Amino acid sequence: MPTPNLIDQPVLMLYVGGTIGMVETTRGLAPGSDFSRRLSTALARLPASRQAKLPDLVIRESAHPIDSSSATPADWQRLGSEIAAALPQHAGVVVLHGTDTLAWSASSLAFQLQGVDRPVVVTGAMRPLGSEGSDALDNVELALQFAARPALQEVAVAFGNRLLRGARSRKVAGREAFVSPHHPPLGERIDGEAMLFPAHGLAIQQGKTPHFELADYAGLAEGGVVRIVLWPGIQAWQVAAWLEDRRVRGALLEVWGGGNAPDDPCLLAAFARARSEGKLLAAVSQCPAGGVTLGRYAAGMGLAEAGVLSGDTMTPEAAYTKLVHLLALPLDDDERRRRFLASLAGER
Ligand code: ASP
Repeated sequence: MPTPNLIDQPVLMLYVGGTIGMVETTRGLAPGSDFSRRLSTALARLPASRQAKLPDLVIRESAHPIDSSSATPADWQRLGSEIAAALPQHAGVVVLHGTDTLAWSASSLAFQLQGVDRPVVVTGAMRPLGSEGSDALDNVELALQFAARPALQEVAVAFGNRLLRGARSRKVAGREAFVSPHHPPLGERIDGEAMLFPAHGLAIQQGKTPHFELADYAGLAEGGVVRIVLWPGIQAWQVAAWLEDRRVRGALLEVWGGGNAPDDPCLLAAFARARSEGKLLAAVSQCPAGGVTLGRYAAGMGLAEAGVLSGDTMTPEAAYTKLVHLLALPLDDDERRRRFLASLAGER
């Protein structure tokens, strides 16, 4: 259960980059400086009725805000450690992040901050703060309201009007830029109020004992896990070129439909060889909202026989960040496989 004085603590807002804080430059939008002051000024100009709904706030801005298209597992690790260190002094944390890889960071944080006993809410914007028609303030307000709700005890994404489970989120287009294809929203803005939906699985993340796993991702940040999306005509030699590199320790395969791959013995042998070398291989569907059951079709049985793990309904973002996480922990292969197939943060 949350500590009783949680409500008296401020919410910490971390600005790490993204469109929300960007400014126009001669080379297009780029992260701007002085974001804390710009955001504080904008919040202070909100009508009193909207300000009254917001918790006390501390804003901390990264010394080098980035476009999230440059984020790597090393950035996920830094963010996880910073949040873990700050959580005891704050009711919750809001991360302001670029939308391009927001779902990846949210998924990674969910694995690093397992059992978190208060809200960690990630948001961003499609248009910079202060620009015409910007969604930045709306998203910040929504994230702040949810970050002050002790009943939310997990990493979530607040965007548009919805609150989604972080490890289930994916970016799409438009102002409601995120979806969670296999999980209903955890909450929503209704008439300006942030409402949680307890019936949508909040309980499975509540009341856990925090057991943060702040592994060192440095060794994997330089290409340790590859992502291979099948295409018609994919060749075994192409797959082997990725998997035989000794720096590669794991691979996420994005396969057809419900879990199928070409009936090509050489291709399946390339996967099996990687497995025999102890590499961790998993498969998810490349259908945007699909799930896999390896072995349902004969065309997928070969993957299961090659030792590829089923990612079930996991998003590619969750499956990839989970592979990185498990490979960074000091575990043996059996334990990694067991944990991959289990739900660690509501991701499957
Ligand atoms: N390129 C930006 C980023 O991900 C896009 C955004 O924030 O919407 O940092």
